[in-house]
Amino acid sequence: MIFQNKCNDCGFCCLIQLCKLAERIFSLPRNGRCPALEFEGTKSRCGIVDLVKLDEREHAIVLRQIGAGEGCSIEAMARGRDGNFYEFQFLPDQTKIDLAQLQIKEPAALTVLYRRKK
Ligand code: SF4
Ligand code: SF4
Repeated sequence: MIFQNKCNDCGFCCLIQLCKLAERIFSLPRNGRCPALEFEGTKSRCGIVDLVKLDEREHAIVLRQIGAGEGCSIEAMARGRDGNFYEFQFLPDQTKIDLAQLQIKEPAALTVLYRRKK
């Protein structure tokens, strides 16, 4: 794991911005929900590997490109009810999940300042 905090698959990063690989594949603007993002309950999954036929080596390259297993790579500030901004990657797991679910239901509810590493 490269980053300090482990990824809990909340999906927040991919709800608000496409990674570089998705940007290239979908030719979409960077900000917004990635079309490859899938949810099973509150657990997210990157569906990019299902969209293209990949051999084992290509599969490994894609996993590296999306930062799989590297921890929570998001650089984002989320504004709490108290009006303060909190660094997303350091929030408790359940808060991350709650914010991701809120982002799905009410995309305008959160003010997010965001810069993604991957
Ligand atoms: S990691 Fe997967 S779901 Fe997330 S933005 Fe990239 S391609 Fe989309
Ligand atoms: S925001 Fe962080 S914890 Fe949530 S899915 Fe993205 S990398 Fe994982």
